[in-house]
Amino acid sequence: MESIWTKTVQIPARKKAEGRLEREIAVIGAGMTGILTAYRLQQMGKQVVVLEAGRIAGGQTKNTTAKITSQHGCFYQKLISDIGIKNARLYARANQEAIDAFEKMAEELGAACDFVRLPSFLYSADDEENLKKEAAAAVSVGIDASFVTETELPFPVAGAVRFSKQAQFHPLKFISAAARGLEIYENTPVKKIRKNVIYFDGGTVTAQKIIVATHYPIINFPGMYFMRQHQERSYVLALSRCPRLQGMYYSADLDGLSFRSAENILLIGGNAHRTGKNVQGGAYADLREKAKIYFPDSREVCCWSAQDCMTHDGVPFVGKYFYGQQNRFVATGYKKWGMTSSMAASLLLSDLACGRQSIYEKVFTPQRHRVKAAGNLMQDMAESISGLARGWMFPYSKREEDEQKHWTRCSHMGCRLKWNPDEKTWDCPCHGSRYTVDGELLDEPAKCSLKKKTNR
Ligand SMILES: Cc1cc2nc3c(=O)[nH]c(=O)nc-3n(C[C@H](O)[C@H](O)[C@H](O)COP(=O)(O)OP(=O)(O)OC[C@H]3O[C@@H](n4cnc5c(N)ncnc54)[C@H](O)[C@@H]3O)c2cc1C
Repeated sequence: MESIWTKTVQIPARKKAEGRLEREIAVIGAGMTGILTAYRLQQMGKQVVVLEAGRIAGGQTKNTTAKITSQHGCFYQKLISDIGIKNARLYARANQEAIDAFEKMAEELGAACDFVRLPSFLYSADDEENLKKEAAAAVSVGIDASFVTETELPFPVAGAVRFSKQAQFHPLKFISAAARGLEIYENTPVKKIRKNVIYFDGGTVTAQKIIVATHYPIINFPGMYFMRQHQERSYVLALSRCPRLQGMYYSADLDGLSFRSAENILLIGGNAHRTGKNVQGGAYADLREKAKIYFPDSREVCCWSAQDCMTHDGVPFVGKYFYGQQNRFVATGYKKWGMTSSMAASLLLSDLACGRQSIYEKVFTPQRHRVKAAGNLMQDMAESISGLARGWMFPYSKREEDEQKHWTRCSHMGCRLKWNPDEKTWDCPCHGSRYTVDGELLDEPAKCSLKKKTNR
């Protein structure tokens, strides 16, 4: 499965790291977060190296839909209730500033990355009241938002919340330009970090500051991010012969779809599920059905899927890796809004890594405790425990017994893997690591492939 972005842009390869390196700052992971953070730190005069397990942007970033917006689903009413109006304003401001920062950086780089300003719409088939409340909540945190009843969508809606001056781009054209002047090593998976030394096969990097930008944090202790977030996967179809949309669309309804145009191609996204919980399959088939209904003349160009980390309170974890750590930082938990979130993270982390204070630190700090999110936290912990204990403490179901000859356990923490028939992969329902049918690692937090070859 290949995204429309990888079909249209090839980022030049970099060599593997070797030997002993010493730099002021090391960034682990060359996705949108790692590249933006390294770029900003280099602009601030720091000597930075980036270590990437695979290829630049080869993680989730190559499979995003790249809507650059502070409209993060139906979120602001909940956010205000959870963290108060003052902090919710800071969240909105960080994300609005991120949109401007992308525009400025694209100009600075002279990047022909199809960056374009356009409005973003949150629509619902039937819940007009909720949308009106969401529009009011967005206005109250400083966003230029309004409730509208007209959209370009090919089906009736009860209305939509319109955010003006949002943006979209081609993420790989942008990242290719941003990576140009950076010291990046590819095919260099980091195995461990001890104090200020990073270990990879064939060498080490010693750095005063280390930024873990691996999408899902790869260091389990301290931090215990594996207890505090899970991954959710969703699916995308790229279609030709469709109308070109003048806005980006996201649904407030549970089974809704997202839409954006990319030149003359239309992207439709949806069918989200917790990673490891798609045992029935049918995610692409369902999108194809809907495409046939709404855009009967369309032709499929390609399809793909991706996943993102969902924190218990819906706010990313960006800041110090663990209490009191002044030299190690992290950014994760973007809830499928990793374009503005990664830019906001890069601004915050570059300040912290340079010893500066930031007004945004208290909103995004990974060391926060939000009582209202305790239910989600308990649910994530329960999933982890059940995945680990399946077959040992908890008996298998009949179906699981039938699967015994196929399945295997994750190399991250030993959870039982589940087959995803849409992707033909083995996925971990606890923390979201994924493997090919041959047991090769596709997605972190696991750091290595499966020892035992799978059998499917
Ligand atoms: C279907 C879908 C659609 C989306 N659409 C949007 C959208 O429209 N707008 C939006 O804002 N967000 C969107 N997102 C979210 C967004 O794509 C992600 O949040 C973002 O790309 C994450 O970037 P990242 O740099 O944190 O992670 P990644 O891009 O995954 O980068 C992490 C990098 O770390 C590397 N790595 C991992 N382990 C190691 C290791 N041990 N050593 C060295 N390197 C390592 C990986 O190889 C990878 O390259 C979407 C998400 C999904 C699932």
